[in-house]
Amino acid sequence: MGDGEAFGLCSRCVHQKLVANTRGSSFSMCLLARRDSRFPKYPRVPVARCDGFAPRDAEGPRAA
Ligand code: SF4
Repeated sequence: MGDGEAFGLCSRCVHQKLVANTRGSSFSMCLLARRDSRFPKYPRVPVARCDGFAPRDAEGPRAA
């Protein structure tokens, strides 16, 4: 599974941080969860709709 669009909206959101695990896959962490309890730290992906979504300027996922 590629990371590209696998996480839905999160893949294009400034609040996303990709976190790799020891088995070589990665999780989509939501940094907005640190300051807003409405958002889960590890949202169920792919996220189709999110009130916290803010598009990144750069294309593609940001490495952790
Ligand atoms: S704010 Fe929403 S779209 Fe952005 S990373 Fe968090 S859960 Fe994903």
